[in-house]
Amino acid sequence: MRKNIVAGNWKMNTTLEEGVELANNVNALLKDTKANCEVIVCVPFTHLTSVNAVIEPELVKMGAENCSEHEKGAYTGEVSAAMVKSTGADYVILGHSERRQYFGENNEQLLKKTQLALANGLKPIFCVGEVLEERENGSYNDVVKSQVEALFSLSPDDFSKIVIAYEPVWAIGTGKTATAEQAQDMHAHIRKVVEEKYGKEIADNTSILYGGSCKPSNAKELFAKPDVDGGLIGGASLKAEDFLGIVEAFN
Ligand code: PEP
Repeated sequence: MRKNIVAGNWKMNTTLEEGVELANNVNALLKDTKANCEVIVCVPFTHLTSVNAVIEPELVKMGAENCSEHEKGAYTGEVSAAMVKSTGADYVILGHSERRQYFGENNEQLLKKTQLALANGLKPIFCVGEVLEERENGSYNDVVKSQVEALFSLSPDDFSKIVIAYEPVWAIGTGKTATAEQAQDMHAHIRKVVEEKYGKEIADNTSILYGGSCKPSNAKELFAKPDVDGGLIGGASLKAEDFLGIVEAFN
């Protein structure tokens, strides 16, 4: 059966020293609280090696926030999937709306990134989600379907390693959360889209996380929905106690 997951996305926050302290605090709190889900911290590239040195893999897994669509070579400033993997990371966030919006990442690039991540043994946390206008004009189910379909040239075996994060863009960092019913409806829709392509077993085994102003006070209600398998957490992952409060929603 699919895993429940709570993953933090630190974005471009924390110096190296602050990030190591945050990872240490998350790890320490998880020693006292048995988590009933997989806990992941997705951290800036510069922090990966140092964070990996302070977390205990049976308590916390680590991921990057992006990787290159190129395998290697003359791409100054880029970080490849192989480089990310070599730090000890298990996961990589791909297709975050901030990458789509500010860096123009499109479906074709995201497929390449996903293929390289998988080829290097990283599990992609693949983000999808509509903008406010698409929510309001009613096209959100079609928008998200086409974002998921961007991965449909993957083999069933490869697709089964993907975690999907539904993050309505209008809810990210805005304090405005989707209702638990809106999240459930979209997650069920995504699972159906996956089922139509890859069959019921893979669809049932795909973890689908909700992201968008998730916090300790609303996580329990969201995670109680049958198709919501956890959360991708931005702002609230920057304080170890808040992040743990969300992890505890599964207890
Ligand atoms: C995110 O950007 O992945 C996210 C969910 O952010 P926040 O929790 O801050 O809305």
